[in-house]
Amino acid sequence: MTNHLPGPFSLVPFVSVDDMMKLVLDIGIERMLCDLAEAIETDFMRWEAFDKTPRVAAHSEKGVIELMPTSDGQAYGFKYVNGHPGNTRSGRQTVTAFGVLADVETGYPLMLTEMTLLTALRTAATSAMAARHLMPRGARTMAMIGNGAQSEFQCLAFKAVCGIDRVQLFDTDPRATEKAMRNLAGKGLELIACTSAEEAVQGAEIITTCTADKQFATILTDNMVGSGVHINAIGGDCPGKTELHRDILLRSDIFVEFPEQTRIEGEIQQLDPDHPVTELWQVIAGRAAGRTSDRQITLFDSVGFATEDFSALRYVRGQLEKRPFFTNLDLLADPDDPRDLFGMVMRRQSQTPAA
Ligand code: NAD
Repeated sequence: MTNHLPGPFSLVPFVSVDDMMKLVLDIGIERMLCDLAEAIETDFMRWEAFDKTPRVAAHSEKGVIELMPTSDGQAYGFKYVNGHPGNTRSGRQTVTAFGVLADVETGYPLMLTEMTLLTALRTAATSAMAARHLMPRGARTMAMIGNGAQSEFQCLAFKAVCGIDRVQLFDTDPRATEKAMRNLAGKGLELIACTSAEEAVQGAEIITTCTADKQFATILTDNMVGSGVHINAIGGDCPGKTELHRDILLRSDIFVEFPEQTRIEGEIQQLDPDHPVTELWQVIAGRAAGRTSDRQITLFDSVGFATEDFSALRYVRGQLEKRPFFTNLDLLADPDDPRDLFGMVMRRQSQTPAA
């Protein structure tokens, strides 16, 4: 195994969890969140270039396993991701993922990578990028409800991309809040631990909900949301799994990634199928308005879309040119004569010493 980027015919670079941690630390987490926000925004601006489909989901009683493919005609990417809210009880993550970037011309993979960390980074970068277009001017305070695996990434993305400097944290499990406070200490944010969601939203111009529960939950009720706030709703991302009371949705201007997917999975599954929503890419491309008044409630009904993973995959693959945090995987058969796959196996047998 070497860590030179392979040619198109041979080995496939593999970014392990350890390599991803090294990459994040080498780039700097806030720098990487800003870079990812920019990469995701750039791809949203060329939205029409992408093949788009709602993700392919396999639901079970405990959770969901999803495949998220897309292509811009030159590169192809997909992510395998799960969502199992009960997993933390057995010491497992709620969300884990890995993904592949491939070359459309040959169909050959260009990279295989862990995406558990990369999903947290890209989700936070997407949230902050969307908020930059939708949040009230001069917003400084965010409520962070749900202080699990995604939460610190969300807080740092809103600091780095949107200029937030105060976070009011709440989780039904106080140990999660303590963990987030510990991890975020010294990172340039004023941190306030709250004992209720009501307390956390007091005075916040941005409310992020990032909880995990496989049900129609009510993390925010209508009376908790004042005029002018921006809601970044992350945890409602599956049929039967939402976070906001329906009345909030009826008072909000709703922005979504890909309506065909969000109507199945997002907060708006609670609304009529023709309830008006704005596609985020249209705001970014200047074709639709984002925030238009100080009193408007804007809601980013985030479920996570394949182009965000594609942007993140391409960003990481690009970084490997300068930062060789990967190993080369012997993933693809490469016989001397492309049609002699069988002969390759036979030659291997003759090279294997008898037991
Ligand atoms: P996690 O299990 O690590 O954390 C969830 C936290 O929510 C836990 O600490 C839990 O105690 C807390 N919680 C549960 N119910 C609560 C309530 N009523 N009030 C306050 N806190 C509550 O999960 P995670 O990896 O941080 O993911 C959070 C959510 O984000 C999940 O639902 C996941 O599916 C979703 N997610 C969405 C995207 C996206 O792109 N939109 C991407 C990744 C994850």
